Amino acid sequence: MAGAIARHLLPLTAHVDGDDRLSVGGCDLGALAEEHGTPLFVYDETHLRERCRDAAAAFGGRATYASKAFLCRAMAALAHEEGLGIDVSTGGELHVALSAGVPADEIVLHGNNKSIDELRRALEVGVGRIVVDSDDELDRIDALVSGGLPTPKVLLRVTPGVEAHTHEYVMTGHDDTKFGFGLASGAAESALRRAEASPHVELVGIHAHIGSNIFLLSGFTKALEKLAPFVRRASLGELSIGGGLGVAYVEGEESPTFAEWAGVLQQAATEHGIDTPLHVEPGRSIVAAAAITLYRVGTIKDLAGIRTYVSVDGGMSDNPRPVLYGSGYEAFLPRATGADRPMTATIVGKHCESGDILVRDAQLPADLAVGDVLATPVTGAYGHSMASNYNKVPRPAVVFVRDGDARVVIRRETLDDLLRLDT
Ligand SMILES: *Cc1c(COP(=O)(O)O)cnc(C)c1O
Repeated sequence: MAGAIARHLLPLTAHVDGDDRLSVGGCDLGALAEEHGTPLFVYDETHLRERCRDAAAAFGGRATYASKAFLCRAMAALAHEEGLGIDVSTGGELHVALSAGVPADEIVLHGNNKSIDELRRALEVGVGRIVVDSDDELDRIDALVSGGLPTPKVLLRVTPGVEAHTHEYVMTGHDDTKFGFGLASGAAESALRRAEASPHVELVGIHAHIGSNIFLLSGFTKALEKLAPFVRRASLGELSIGGGLGVAYVEGEESPTFAEWAGVLQQAATEHGIDTPLHVEPGRSIVAAAAITLYRVGTIKDLAGIRTYVSVDGGMSDNPRPVLYGSGYEAFLPRATGADRPMTATIVGKHCESGDILVRDAQLPADLAVGDVLATPVTGAYGHSMASNYNKVPRPAVVFVRDGDARVVIRRETLDDLLRLDT
């Protein structure tokens, strides 16, 4: 039988009061659900700030926040205030980061298919770095800079040919990938020669990002080993090893700390004769564990001898990760945080497909009832940022909680928002 939800899966300021109710940032979760409605993303602002500071400290300030994990103006501003640059991978993410007041020169532009418009905006505002991903992109930069726009500082994205130990869909460092210039094929070498000779780019570094949610740090050390001869030959001022540090989502998982990650990377770099300063781009590991999603239980169906289905008022539209990657989550009731969870049930959403599963075989308290607020922890990364309006379900609100105060940073969509784009 499963016991109470594990403390290490809850945000930093999570606190259980005398009645066994959970508060985060000094705000009672049941009361937040009441006031702001459900589904609701609740982010512990203290936790977010600590993670940003930890990352900045572990890497001597050479860390940028990969904003695709979770982005809104408040998040971009927070990460920047805490000493991180901001990674964006589209013109849309760039727009949000700029509109949050992040200085352009602290923004890094990624993407395997940056459009001419995206590149033009990046050059016009003067982003700090462009991570170049293809020859076609170099052609586009040539054309824009020849046309009078300023010369950008660029890194070359190289795929080192390692298979990180993670889900196939989020592996990005192997040879058969759409990302970057392959090391093994010689594409990286030709791109290096072209960029060095080009008057239209200022080549400042090499970049590699091998994947996401990686627990085994050996994936990173192998990448550094493979990159080393190329990096030494290129002899540039920066080496970014990307993001990808794993996060504990369920009972029994344990993730490395930023300090451990930094230590292992630095040791591997030294071992392989790389003296270029190391940069990183954590996304998931900054935001995932900072948030809890609150849902309201709507129906409970006990199919005798088969399975119990607990339906909540969200689903794949606010957390598509279980559908996309088969990801697991824990669930608990914030009104009974310390309760044992002897009941096995599958938590599903309200969308019109059987695949709309949030937690398969979740462990829950036996007295779970219709109307309960149900919580899934560790939903801060790739949840709201991947949210959709499938079935015309309005996307949830997001609140940042701190010192007893809940600040709405993304308001809940209204029914009228669903008509906004119709002509
Ligand atoms: C997605 C991505 C990251 C962040 O990955 P996480 O697993 O969220 O840390 C960093 N860099 C690049 C280039 C990415 O595409």
